[in-house]
This record gives sequence, structure tokens and C-alpha cells, in this order.
Amino acid sequence: MSEKVLRLPVKEYLEEIEVYEAGKPIELLVREYGVAPEDVVKLASNENPLGTSPLVKEAIIANAHRAHLYPDDSMYELKEALARKFGVEEEELIIGAGSDQVLSFVSQLLLEPGRSILTSRVSFAMYDIYASWYGADIVKSKSWRHLPEEFIPLIEEREPTIVYLCTPNNPTGDAMRVEDIEKIVESGNPEKTLFVIDGAYMEYAAAKNPEYAVSPSRFIERYPNLLYLGTFSKAYGLGGMRVGYGIARKELISALYKIRPPFNITTLSLAAALAALEDEAFVQESLKIHAQEIGRYEEFADRNGIEYIESSTNFISYLFGEDRESGKIARYLFERGVIIRDLSSYGINGVRITVGTPKQNDRLFEVLQEALS
Ligand SMILES: *Cc1c(COP(=O)(O)O)cnc(C)c1O
Repeated sequence: MSEKVLRLPVKEYLEEIEVYEAGKPIELLVREYGVAPEDVVKLASNENPLGTSPLVKEAIIANAHRAHLYPDDSMYELKEALARKFGVEEEELIIGAGSDQVLSFVSQLLLEPGRSILTSRVSFAMYDIYASWYGADIVKSKSWRHLPEEFIPLIEEREPTIVYLCTPNNPTGDAMRVEDIEKIVESGNPEKTLFVIDGAYMEYAAAKNPEYAVSPSRFIERYPNLLYLGTFSKAYGLGGMRVGYGIARKELISALYKIRPPFNITTLSLAAALAALEDEAFVQESLKIHAQEIGRYEEFADRNGIEYIESSTNFISYLFGEDRESGKIARYLFERGVIIRDLSSYGINGVRITVGTPKQNDRLFEVLQEALS
């Protein structure tokens, strides 16, 4: 009778959910392979390799003595700063513990059995996981790109409750043109379908090509059924602080507020995010170094006959031919202290590599070269 199985009445549709596989942490390498922490090169979770702004570090230290206090639950200052940055009203903003949490709010608000979401064939894994939490069906486009000619017929036919447009897309790295986003959004019935533009890497895409730059204020002005998501985790270098935001019309934001738990980000996270917004120069410097370094990844690929997807993000995905196995390559690197993301769980024989600092990239090229030969 001591058999260890869960006997509680777990919802049937939750049984098949797979646990999200996060990028492997540095601690794991230290524990299991005895690699010194300072020798680990972590290029698996799309964090900003330059770290974060010095202003953020100062703000965290300056607020450390307030760690026993709950944060200002209105998040007034952060919302005001974001409202100014994006040219929207404070009532058009909601803050989450990462934009991930805003994704979970919107899924809880809208999804239930009998409803569906639509995503591109290869996209951010959390969309599917949250849809499964609420028993919704998952519809995918045929290709891994967000093509209007694939999305529009599916929207008209299936009337999905949420359509995710991840631009630039994770883990492929490609971005959508604003005119294509508009075409897709216009094909949905505003009373049946919400479009979520996930702009987690928008800073990188906008710097690369203005045709990719989504203006959240313009979009929500035009469309009542649109939610824009942004995060401090990538270009702003705050992955460890967990701050993201959603921008939409007031009516949708107030509905999302019914689901938000109080104090959903921390006192230190609030201070950090506010300080990060004050240091645009840090972000600009990060984007500049990134633009130089990603060029080296393209050259490396070309030199070694590796196919890659042109990237508008802070990572690049290499695609291997049949002669190579992405899982083996990722493992070879991992055992040598270099962490990258194997894409085989997405059905792709390839790897996703976050573009690091010049020094981290040197090490990556060195070990990857070895792995390839
Ligand atoms: C990283 C990421 C997010 C959100 O990250 P948070 O740390 O939760 O803000 C959302 N969408 C995509 C596509 C991402 O890659």
C-alpha cells in the first residue's frame, strides 16, 4: 500500500502536460561536472551577456533595507515610467513576474475546454503549456514562420480564442514585418479572438530593421483585441528579477487585474526595473555589441557549412544536416562548460545559442569547432 503514486483527482487534461525545460543552470555544471563557476559559459537562456546596468545594481543595494516591506502594489512609479516610454496610459499597463506571468493571466482569463490557441509550428513553449492548464486545444501553422497566408485561413476557420504572434520568434529568431502583423490581426473577429504580440526581443528586432518595430500604442489604438507583451529579462538584463509587462486597452487590462495576485513582483524587482529604464545607454551599448558579435556567428556558420536562420534576436539558431546530431553536439559542449540549447525537443535538428560577450563567443567557437570535427 506504500506505492508512491499521486492519487488525488488531478484534472484529466493536466495529466499530459510536459514540464517546461528551462535552460540548464550554471549550478548544475558545477555540481555534476566539477567545472569552476567562473569557467562556465552560459549561452542557453538569452540573457544579456553584459549583465545589467550599474544603476540597477545601485538601486538593488539601496533598497536592500526594504526587503521586509511588501512592494507598492499599485506599482505606480514603474507604470508611470513605462507609460511615458510607450506613450500609453497607466491604465493600459499590467506588470507581471516576467511577461510569462502575464501570459498565464491571459490564458486563465480566456481559455477553457472547447476553445483554442493558434501559434506558429515552432514557437515559445509556454503558450502550449498555459493552454493545456485550461484544457484548450492547440492549433499550429504548417511552417515555423508566421505567414499571413497560413495564419489567416486558420483564424477564419478555427476562430481561436488566442493567436500568439511571437516576433521575433523564440527559438527561431525570425521577426515579422509590421504590415504582416496587421494583416493577420485584421482577419480576426474582435469578439472572439485576442492577438498577443510577444515582443520579448523587440529591442533587438527594432534596432535591426524598422519594418519589424511594433509600436504598442499604435496597435492598441487600432485594435481592441490586442495585447502587447514586453520584458526586462532580455535586452534590459533583468532575467533574475522577473519583471515583464502587458499593454492593452483599459477594458482588457482591468479584466486581467482580476487574476493578478497582490504583490506579484518584489520590492527589489520594482526598484531594479525602474533603474533599468533610466539607463537607456546601457541597452544601446548592449545592442551595439550584439550587432557586432552576431556577425561572427554568421561567419562561423558559413565557414563550417552550417545552415542558420537569420536572426533578429539576441540568439541564433544553427540547423544541422543529417550528418550531425544536435543533442550530441550540445552534450559535448555542456561537458566542457559551454551551455547552449538543443532544439530537438522542438523537432529541429539544431541548437539555439545566445550571443555572448566577445570572450564567451571565442570559447563557444573553439569548443563547437572541436565538436564538429
Ligand atoms: C524570455 C521570453 C519571455 C518572457 O520572459 P520573462 O522572463 O518571463 O519576462 C516571453 N516570451 C518569449 C518568447 C521569451 O523568449
